Amino acid sequence: MADHEPVIGIDLGTTNSVVALVQGGQPQVIKNRAGQLLTPSVVAVTSGGKRLVGHLAKRQAITNPENTVYASKRLIGRKFSSAQIQKAREVLPYHLLCGEHDDVRVQLGDRPVSLPEVSAAVLQELRKDAEAYLGRTVTKAVVTVPAYFNDGQRQATKDAGRIAGLDVLRIINEPTAAALAYGFARNVNGKIAVFDLGGGTLDVSVLDVSKGVFEVVSTGGDTYLGGEDFDNRIIEWLVMAFAKEHGVDLRKDRMALQRLKDAAERAKMELSTVQETAINLPFLYTPSGGTSALHLQASLTRAKLEELTRDLAERSVQIAEQVLAEAKVRAADLKEIVLVGGMTRMPLVHALVTRHFKEPSRGVHPEEVVALGAAIQADALLRPDSQVLLLDVTPQSLGVAIAGGYTRRLIGKNTTVPTSVTETFHTSRDGQTTVKIMVLQGESDLAHQNELLGEFILSGLRLATRGEVEIDVTFDINAEGIVSVSARDRETGLQQSIIVTASGGLTDTELKNILDDQADLLLEASASAEVLNKRTALESVAKEVEAMMPQVRQLTGNSEFGRDALRKAEAVLTSSKVALKSSDLILLADWVDQLEKTRTLFVGVLERLGARQQ
Ligand code: ADP
Ligand code: MG
Repeated sequence: MADHEPVIGIDLGTTNSVVALVQGGQPQVIKNRAGQLLTPSVVAVTSGGKRLVGHLAKRQAITNPENTVYASKRLIGRKFSSAQIQKAREVLPYHLLCGEHDDVRVQLGDRPVSLPEVSAAVLQELRKDAEAYLGRTVTKAVVTVPAYFNDGQRQATKDAGRIAGLDVLRIINEPTAAALAYGFARNVNGKIAVFDLGGGTLDVSVLDVSKGVFEVVSTGGDTYLGGEDFDNRIIEWLVMAFAKEHGVDLRKDRMALQRLKDAAERAKMELSTVQETAINLPFLYTPSGGTSALHLQASLTRAKLEELTRDLAERSVQIAEQVLAEAKVRAADLKEIVLVGGMTRMPLVHALVTRHFKEPSRGVHPEEVVALGAAIQADALLRPDSQVLLLDVTPQSLGVAIAGGYTRRLIGKNTTVPTSVTETFHTSRDGQTTVKIMVLQGESDLAHQNELLGEFILSGLRLATRGEVEIDVTFDINAEGIVSVSARDRETGLQQSIIVTASGGLTDTELKNILDDQADLLLEASASAEVLNKRTALESVAKEVEAMMPQVRQLTGNSEFGRDALRKAEAVLTSSKVALKSSDLILLADWVDQLEKTRTLFVGVLERLGARQQ
């Protein structure tokens, strides 16, 4: 086989990251230089200014909580002012700062660092692990993201790759990668559901697999549901008990909180195999005023853990049910359900999935399968003759804001990508020489209830009445789910476009205010089929009336009745021609009505007078 430059597959996880490679036709996980399969997605800077990544960073988190960044994937590609970030600021032991473009930065040592840089540190670590294993340089990778990542988050992940010196050939969705790895090994045909509950996100997808073609039918999830939420329930429980016993709020002590977090996660993982575990944190809190240090000692049973977290586990299967419902797939139709993510090792999660769907497939390592799928995709990109074809879908609908504050959807949810759609719009006001294209993501008909992904202006349009200037708006989504939008004046060919980056973070009200301010600049959707039908009806009845005019004039032209009727008919015809340009259904219907009355009158005149003449 030709000696291709290797392309690695990377699962850049919220909690753990994994790198894999296909060698000799077989995908396998590459161990890191410490000999482990999982590399914690943790980046730290020590007091001496040294940067640490992975296990080394995680291990010192307790003594250096303010300069240890974990779960940064929950922050990437989001706006600093967004509600999620403001909420995260309250609970994270490290500091978040606002960047120049309302992006999020983290304070690491003496420097504010962007989130793509944080992810880049993890990617670079994995790249070095792969290079150490292969004994050669690696510059190309396929990286996975949660299916629910929006465009901005995907862009930020690509940026991270670039900073890490990796050309990210393709971004693929994690559940798709998992199905790919599962199906690859087993030659599956039929519908597969992937249920991925990791440290920070839940991703659920339904795929249709046949003869090496992996088509995503439906995907959904929650970017804010994962293992950390389970850990937090344990932390709350411990904090409450401690407060009751000692009258001390541990949440105010960053170091204590970090130790609690560690202990909570460890207890949770242990309870996947045992029924009861002890949590001991000596010298957890030192009160001011010289009294002796306080210790935490507790015992947690599996039953108690399940009581504390049952609603979270149930919510995860409910979301999975919705995704199945959207795909119009019944649990009984599923060939396989593949469990992915460390959290699916929790017996309660396993049991709920089994009860609601079916017995999950065996023989899959939930933490490794995504990276293996990325490696398979990477390998497929190297070889044009590859048997693997990945057809991913858009996680949410995309469209533009139109006059009246509505959304015009151009690309529906769960559309297979890559895809491209063009639709013609027109100006919504007389004399409108500028239009603003506001790109929205979401399912609501009301523009302000969706997320604003980006906006741009197309100006220099001809001065004309409303509806005369036509603009083609094109949405392009590439195979990685990255969206670009362009608008083109059909008359002049003038064009503007953007690659969309999520600006997120705007509240409903903020977006509504923006839309109200910009109302004059919005487009109007091209006519609906109904409007087109009415226009055709109006045109045809107008033609009939016009055709009868000369005869009517000839027969009645000299009478007062005749002159009156003809003058009226002419006025109706002129107005109807103006109405033809409108998209207003009621207006159109009104003129159809008027013209039909004129036609009835003319037909009557022609029948009576015409007959008398003969
Ligand atoms: P991510 O995709 O977010 O990086 P992983 O798939 O590595 O996450 O899963 C990490 C989560 O799984 C963490 O919350 C971790 O505590 C949890 N986890 C790992 N092993 C177990 C286990 N044996 N039982 C319960 N939870 C586990
Ligand atoms: Mg994962």
